Amino acid sequence: MSYVQEVLKKTVEKNPGEVEFHQTVKEVLNSLEPVFDKHPEYITAGILERIVEPERQIMFRVPWVDDQGKLQVNRGFRVQFNSAIGPYKGGLRFHPSVNLGIIKFLGFEQIFKNSLTGLPIGGGKGGSDFDPKGKSDTEVMRFCQSFMTELYRFIGADTDVPAGDIGVGGREIGYLYGQYKRITNRYESILTGKGLPYGGSLARTEATGYGVVYFMDEALKAQGKSLKGATVVVSGSGNVAIYAVEKAQQLGAKVVTMSDSNGYIYDADGIKLDTVKQLKEVERKRIKEYVEIHPSAQYHEGCANIWNVPCDIAFPCATQNELDAKAAEILLNNGCFAVGEGSNMPCTLEASDVFLNKKIIYSPSKASNAGGVAVSALEMSQNSMRYSWTFEEVDAKLKDIMVNIYNNASNAAKEYGFEGNLLVGANIAGFLKVAEAMKAQGLV
Ligand code: GLU
Repeated sequence: MSYVQEVLKKTVEKNPGEVEFHQTVKEVLNSLEPVFDKHPEYITAGILERIVEPERQIMFRVPWVDDQGKLQVNRGFRVQFNSAIGPYKGGLRFHPSVNLGIIKFLGFEQIFKNSLTGLPIGGGKGGSDFDPKGKSDTEVMRFCQSFMTELYRFIGADTDVPAGDIGVGGREIGYLYGQYKRITNRYESILTGKGLPYGGSLARTEATGYGVVYFMDEALKAQGKSLKGATVVVSGSGNVAIYAVEKAQQLGAKVVTMSDSNGYIYDADGIKLDTVKQLKEVERKRIKEYVEIHPSAQYHEGCANIWNVPCDIAFPCATQNELDAKAAEILLNNGCFAVGEGSNMPCTLEASDVFLNKKIIYSPSKASNAGGVAVSALEMSQNSMRYSWTFEEVDAKLKDIMVNIYNNASNAAKEYGFEGNLLVGANIAGFLKVAEAMKAQGLV
């Protein structure tokens, strides 16, 4: 059995039931096989055995009181996965599905994603099984305050800097930041995705979605194609989806779908993004309300069939494992020639194999959605300087970063004999920097 397969087997055995974590470790480790022929020194240094084991895993009780005066208890998580190249960095997810396996999958992905940005940030992730859906602002505030009352002792501007993810946006970051400041009496850059009046960065809100499209634009250019005139299917209607749609539309694409966990909308004339922003960002309503305002559009209950909508390019931007092998085949049969992952690990292992075998453009999330965390790192830089860049400055840096990630992934794929395979390329390029840093720092 090869070194990689041995570590893989042990990791699965050692972490029973953590299916999403197993999935990402399988994907990443399998694609690293060619690295160890060239770099046997990484085997001696035990890089893989160490990289699959989080440096620290924190789980804690989060008690709070709801609007009816009833006591509620949720579970909080922070997995500090790898700090070889910088302080732990990665979002917090508040969603009822959250468990340790999901946080570990996200934290593991974050190691390689953050490395790909070229910026000095390590990998971490956290969250809670708290469901913000249907909760009042005051309930969300009390929950966030209780969550931070425990988390504050483990984070720090040079230690660990959380941010948002599913269920954690500007509102939640504000409450979390306020509580940290109150407890510690320190005004520090311990969170990113902050509001503009208290240390946030311009273009952070747009960064993940814009980055997904900048990355795709670069991949298309390499094949003489473009987004102009393309029909695009987007899933999701959170922060990533909304700004992917905005940038795709700016570049001349026609986006015909968006979704939430209940169902999807199809607008043959192109999604009216102002309506979606109003519904989702301001009113916190369900996507089905869109068809009340635009009756010519259709609403379909359930999300699985969104991939049946014929398109040239698909951007899955909702959640993990939202696109399986069957959906992948349908997309290809309908002529789809490019898939850019916006959410973390939206394609099952089997679905990504379908795309890779067909050699269409397929960008894994750790490369194509790295724009969010990249601008988070730029927020940290601006906070350190006590200075703010303009929207245009941040956006230009984001674009450069996405183009670099594409080039690095594409070149690494070529160098290791997998030309065109951005998944292998991204995993190898992300891994090499972290492995080199871990080797240099000795057995820690
Ligand atoms: N949650 C985002 C991600 O998956 C952003 C993390 C951050 O900005 O730290 O990369």
